[in-house]
Amino acid sequence: MTNVTPVKILYLEDDIGLARLLVKHMERSGFSVDIANNGKTGLSMFEQSDYDVIVTDQQMPEMSGLEVIQHLSKTGIMPPVIMVTGAGNEQIAVDAMKLGASDYIIKDVDGIYLNLLPTVIRQVIHQQQLIRERKQALEDLQESEERYHTLFNSSHDAILIISLEGNFLDGNPAAINLFGCKNETDFCKLTLEHVSPDYQPEGYLSYVRLQELLGIALTEGSCFYEWTHKTIVGESFPAIVSLNLTNLRGQKVIQANIRDITKQKLTEQVLHKQATEDPLTECFNRRHFFSLAVKELARSESENLNMSIIMFDFDFFKVINDTYGHGVGDIVLVEQSRRIRNTLRPSDIFARYGGEEFVILLPQTSLENAKFTAERIRKNVSEPITAKDIELTSTISFGVTCKEIDESISIDRLLDRADKALYKAKNNGRNSVYAWQPLLDQIQTN
Ligand code: GH3
Ligand code: MG
Ligand code: MG
Repeated sequence: MTNVTPVKILYLEDDIGLARLLVKHMERSGFSVDIANNGKTGLSMFEQSDYDVIVTDQQMPEMSGLEVIQHLSKTGIMPPVIMVTGAGNEQIAVDAMKLGASDYIIKDVDGIYLNLLPTVIRQVIHQQQLIRERKQALEDLQESEERYHTLFNSSHDAILIISLEGNFLDGNPAAINLFGCKNETDFCKLTLEHVSPDYQPEGYLSYVRLQELLGIALTEGSCFYEWTHKTIVGESFPAIVSLNLTNLRGQKVIQANIRDITKQKLTEQVLHKQATEDPLTECFNRRHFFSLAVKELARSESENLNMSIIMFDFDFFKVINDTYGHGVGDIVLVEQSRRIRNTLRPSDIFARYGGEEFVILLPQTSLENAKFTAERIRKNVSEPITAKDIELTSTISFGVTCKEIDESISIDRLLDRADKALYKAKNNGRNSVYAWQPLLDQIQTN
């Protein structure tokens, strides 16, 4: 069984006999009733206890019902009040309502109003409840709007309200700033297309893709993507964007949250460089070479292409270190790598294999052309180098091999063939290029 607290009523009535009758009636209807036999006592009882409703007679000694209502309305704490007035005194009821009473009831001699009173009380309580709920809902709405405004204005992310066609309707300070606008008026002249370059880095036309993305947001409610944006003066920057379909004053709009990820991209690039490059020579490291080489070999096999490998090792490098110091040795490695890189195609994969040994994978290259490239590099690197004011010459030996069209071979086997050819180049007096041939497999290199 649930325990419901009964509605507490303060009844102001100076007629003791009537008061007793009232209490009986009210309690039968489930109310709890306290009686005050004049206006003044009633007010002090109200100050000391909580009542849900005050019911007051008009004519009472010391303070009339109207005076009680007047007093309550002055204090600003106005409970629901029901004025009970005699027939022919309707003006009093009108005055009571003007002063803030919630309702009135006309006394009749037969006492029928006593049966009506519980219903009037319940109605007044219900009305009061509705008023309280509406007030609370308004307060909640106001609070959530204020919270949204604070978030909107202080957010570091750009928040934009855009039409379903992509026209800017509103933007927070971060959004206005992000695209380099002076003020909101300039900002609201823009569209998503205005702040996008003609093409995205992947090659598609920005405006075509934007229509698709807006369409997704419209049908699915939201859409999340990476995008290259640009400011109104044309400076482009990478961003992540989320589009969310929402309602604004009864109109469907899209809220776009845009975050500039330039710094994040730079960090990613630095991390990628650290993971894939040799810090001294800036060539790819051995691990990255293998991951690229495996893919290139697979492509070469599936498309039935040839590809070549050049493996090379600096001649008597220990002597350079021993003669000029390790620092000079480092400069030689850096300078020679730079020279070699300048002679290669962008598709060639150039990596430091270990120590002063390097490898180059040349996609779609015949043995003849690989030999030619190695020879060109050999000549190029044997030009004198100036390191720490010392002029010196460092030469390199090269081993070359080719995966022919239709040949099926592993990367390890190709590297082994290039290594054998390099060994032969060293044995042939160094500073030379040697191409692998089956006969070399009989030579023990270690
Ligand atoms: P070879 O012609 O037979 O290859 O003789 P080499 O002296 O070049 O061969 P060896 O393997 O005896 O010596 C290679 C030297 O390369 C030893 C090693 O200290 C040096 N080296 C390897 N990596 C670096 C580096 O990063 N910087 C410097 N300065 N030297 C390095
Ligand atoms: Mg060497
Ligand atoms: Mg070596």
